[in-house]
Amino acid sequence: MKEERLKTQKPESSLSWQTYGHLTDPQVRQAVSVQSELIWLSQSFLRNEGFVQLLPTIISPITDPLNNEVDEASINCYDNRYRLTQSMIFHKQLSLNAYEKIFIVSPNIRLERPFKASTGVHLFEFTQIDLEVRNGSREDIMDLIEHLTVYIACGLKESALNGRIDISSEMSIPTIPFEKVSYRQAEDRFGRGFEVQLSREIKNPVWLTDVPVTKREFYDRLKDGTSVLDDMDLILPQGHGEVLSGGRREHEYDRIIRRIEMKGVSQDSLRWYLDLAREGLIPPSSGCGFGVERLTKYFCGIDDIAQTRLFPKVPGTLCL
Ligand code: ASP
Ligand code: MG
Repeated sequence: MKEERLKTQKPESSLSWQTYGHLTDPQVRQAVSVQSELIWLSQSFLRNEGFVQLLPTIISPITDPLNNEVDEASINCYDNRYRLTQSMIFHKQLSLNAYEKIFIVSPNIRLERPFKASTGVHLFEFTQIDLEVRNGSREDIMDLIEHLTVYIACGLKESALNGRIDISSEMSIPTIPFEKVSYRQAEDRFGRGFEVQLSREIKNPVWLTDVPVTKREFYDRLKDGTSVLDDMDLILPQGHGEVLSGGRREHEYDRIIRRIEMKGVSQDSLRWYLDLAREGLIPPSSGCGFGVERLTKYFCGIDDIAQTRLFPKVPGTLCL
């Protein structure tokens, strides 16, 4: 009844029609239903593994500086400048003073350049499931994520059997362990900018490890005596590309300062975090964050990430 009534009330402007068309697009509705299951499955898996779910931090004086160029998003609160969260990396690290294992279903704002509208994988508002483990190693996190991915895939199949969601019968359950390829090996095999090619070629998710220090933020730990990080990305098959970044973290003050100087990041913008680091209040850890919309896109076999949200924020565009 309600749906009938909605349909007869024709929105006036073409923008309204566009929005209405998107909201009622069967592919979008299917993807958002899958996403709802996917979030629920992730939460239940992580809670069973002993993780505590924290609520997201949306604004803070500090946020992830990121390695790529995005415009700054900030608001004024009581005469203080607050940044909109680009990732909760620093809050994750500090939370480990309270809990050993934490995760957040974390909304992030990254004001990407308008040309990223056409990549099919960027939204300027997106959500990542961001997790961190005190005293964990990079390998612990990779193992956890492999099991989580299989858990989600099996859970989605089951939900489809129960009629809760509609998912392609071609959706395969990934096999674990996932292959590990170092950044160097990937570049030797496919040349510069290898990600697209690698992602098209593989049939199962692949770990990309040991990213050069210049290509990432300062907080992933440098492997001593090398110029690569103790970090990883997860690359999905069929051209879906990168879905996750993470690694072991720098937690010692001197090392953090060296890395910040190397990057040319302003110490002032990280003052609060650096003061805590100087006091030795950042526990050693590893963690990662994976994009909820990108994972949805993969499991649904969708090309355009805008189809995975009811209200997608497409870079460079005015969006509801
Ligand atoms: N959340 C990610 C991490 O844990 C960083 C990112 O958002 O790219 O490393
Ligand atoms: Mg990343």
